[in-house]
Amino acid sequence: MSLRGGTTFLESVLQTLKRAIELGGYPQEVYEILSRPPQRIITVNIPVRMDNGKIQVFTGYRVQHNNALGPYKGGIRFHPEVTLEEDIALATVMTFKNALNGLPYGGGKGAVAVDYKKLSKRELEELSRGGYARALAPFIGPEVDIPAPDVGTDPQIMAWMVDEYSKIAGHNVPGVFTAKPVVLWGGNPVREYSTGFGVAVWAREAAKKLWGGGIEGKTVAVQGFGNVGYWGGAYWLEKMGAKVVAVTDSKGGVYNPNGLNLAEVKAVKDKTGTVMNYDAPGTRKITNDEVLELPVDILVPAALENVIHKGNANNIKAKLIVEGANGPTTADAEKILHSKGVWILPDLAANAGGVVMSYLEWVEDLQWYFWDEEETRNRLERILLDTFNRVMNRWSKLGTSQVTIREAAYVEAVDRIYNAMKVRGGWI
Ligand code: NAD
Repeated sequence: MSLRGGTTFLESVLQTLKRAIELGGYPQEVYEILSRPPQRIITVNIPVRMDNGKIQVFTGYRVQHNNALGPYKGGIRFHPEVTLEEDIALATVMTFKNALNGLPYGGGKGAVAVDYKKLSKRELEELSRGGYARALAPFIGPEVDIPAPDVGTDPQIMAWMVDEYSKIAGHNVPGVFTAKPVVLWGGNPVREYSTGFGVAVWAREAAKKLWGGGIEGKTVAVQGFGNVGYWGGAYWLEKMGAKVVAVTDSKGGVYNPNGLNLAEVKAVKDKTGTVMNYDAPGTRKITNDEVLELPVDILVPAALENVIHKGNANNIKAKLIVEGANGPTTADAEKILHSKGVWILPDLAANAGGVVMSYLEWVEDLQWYFWDEEETRNRLERILLDTFNRVMNRWSKLGTSQVTIREAAYVEAVDRIYNAMKVRGGWI
């Protein structure tokens, strides 16, 4: 279970929620409604005939946290260590992430306890299609709950699931899963880089406010060179004019104060499996601890949780931290960094590009009308900019020295959910 400053992930999310409710002056009942339990928890038993002829039973969950704003939305995680509590925490975060980004969605999250790397392709298809999609079919749908990939799941799995659901419905239902492959309804090249693009847009906009002059020439260090780290921390930030000086992956990384040649680093990573094998004049190897403490303007943690903690917060030199990963900063570290004037762009805002892209894909699916890459990216950027501006306005109203950007983002999210619940009536 993830920890943020010694508490569980769920406790930490609920603490931030409590604080947001106080800061926004909302009634205490809002906490009761949005804390726990979620509106619905579905547990499914998934028997799969394995290649050795035996039946193996997997446990799956779908947590539907709150749907005041619209259908539940959130990914499906395939991982051996998933727990129901973690799934509840992730579904809860999705409620706030979707609300914050102005999407007409509530929060949901699904999980199956499985080490997918140990399954054959046929077993994985059977688990995804026959098991998860069929078992959950009565509880999901384009107007009810729209899953997407998360850790351990991908567009191929979404394609199997949308196919299975469509067979049950008796007609094609593209809008029930998002992040489908490019060839299927609304699948779009933007999907691949949407989260990273969002990270870069948030960094660019924050840099304008923080430094006036903008992002050109600002130095960047990136922890994690996967989907989010490569596209967000590196590719798009470089395209926007920043200078990426350090990148790492699970093995460690490379640093060149004069800037890295990203195309070359990527080629080495693709060929050899790690950026560590990149070698060029002026470049030296660094560890995953060092990358966080380099003398740079912008730090993008895009790998793991809890990497910025009270033990290293005082050594961090970046003035702007952009959370590509989920939960990379502990609550203790955030306090220290906030008191030093460091801006932390929180995960539920900075890494929301993927879910916003999912929203666009769903809108396309509902109308069977599809946009090209440029139009889709422009629409994505407009939504991200709108969220950025709302969060910054809220932060400035609440007082930037007393309140963190994360707290301001939560107030912004709760405000939408609270007002929707209030005007709909029934609860408040
Ligand atoms: P990924 O698997 O593509 O990449 C992860 C990267 O982290 C890899 O380069 C890996 O080598 C590196 N890594 C692993 N262990 C490390 C360590 N100890 N130190 C440094 N680097 C290490 O994953 P991703 O999709 O890029 O996701 C990264 C983070 O972003 C996760 O927290 C994920 O939850 C979050 N996130 C991803 C998306 C998305 O759309 N992909 C959306 C929102 C949030």
